[in-house]
Amino acid sequence: MVSAPAPAPGRAEVELTRAALGRVRPAVAIAAFVTLASVAGTLPAVAVPPAEIVFDGPSDRRVVALTIDDGYSEETCLRMAAILRRRGATATFFPVGSNVAGHPGVWRSIGRDFPIANHTANHALLTHLGPVAIVEQVRRARRILERVVPDAAVPEFRAPGGALSRQVRRILTTEGYTRTLLWDATNADTDLDASVGAMVRAGLRGGPGSIVLMHCNRPISASALEGIISGYRVRGYRFVTIRELLGPPPARPRPGGAQHR
Ligand SMILES: [Zn+2]
Repeated sequence: MVSAPAPAPGRAEVELTRAALGRVRPAVAIAAFVTLASVAGTLPAVAVPPAEIVFDGPSDRRVVALTIDDGYSEETCLRMAAILRRRGATATFFPVGSNVAGHPGVWRSIGRDFPIANHTANHALLTHLGPVAIVEQVRRARRILERVVPDAAVPEFRAPGGALSRQVRRILTTEGYTRTLLWDATNADTDLDASVGAMVRAGLRGGPGSIVLMHCNRPISASALEGIISGYRVRGYRFVTIRELLGPPPARPRPGGAQHR
């Protein structure tokens, strides 16, 4: 598994958090500090380790985890879910919270067969936000998923644009997301000039244990999904959910607990 090292937290972590909070208005900084402290249980527990960054899973099985983000086109999301069902494949969806709230019927339908994870409330680039706004983006999305698709919601998180900082990752840990997902292959469907063939070729660059990124925003992504499923199957791959690929996320550190040295 390729992942960023999660160094043991210490005084430097606390100082970093304080420094980050110090850049916002005092009232906001205090609110954020109280929020973080209350989530973690005690004030020193702000010093939690950053969420682990995960690009892929173990390479000992011939499996790939397809992931489908955003959900700006309900038609494309439903079509991709239908293709997955028809082909007996699976994927983990990471819709933006506002899209789930705006089309609950669509997401209830998708959630009957596929896990649905947190991709923020409205696709804010978290590295551009202060601590209070980061917490709000994560919590609002989680509340929407718990309300609309309670049985499908899984405690996994992907940051919009993959934009992460140590502050963002530390807040994710306090919010209960001890890992945050990126990807090691993508169908490149954010390239507006890409053809279906180019998207299929790009999507098939994954290997054993890969996490493959795609989106349900434009119809062309659904067209490429058929070829991507076929291509991996020809090469002997099975499709798994993120949970099946990675197992449960690492345990959250105990509030104010033994992580302090
Ligand atoms: Zn996204």
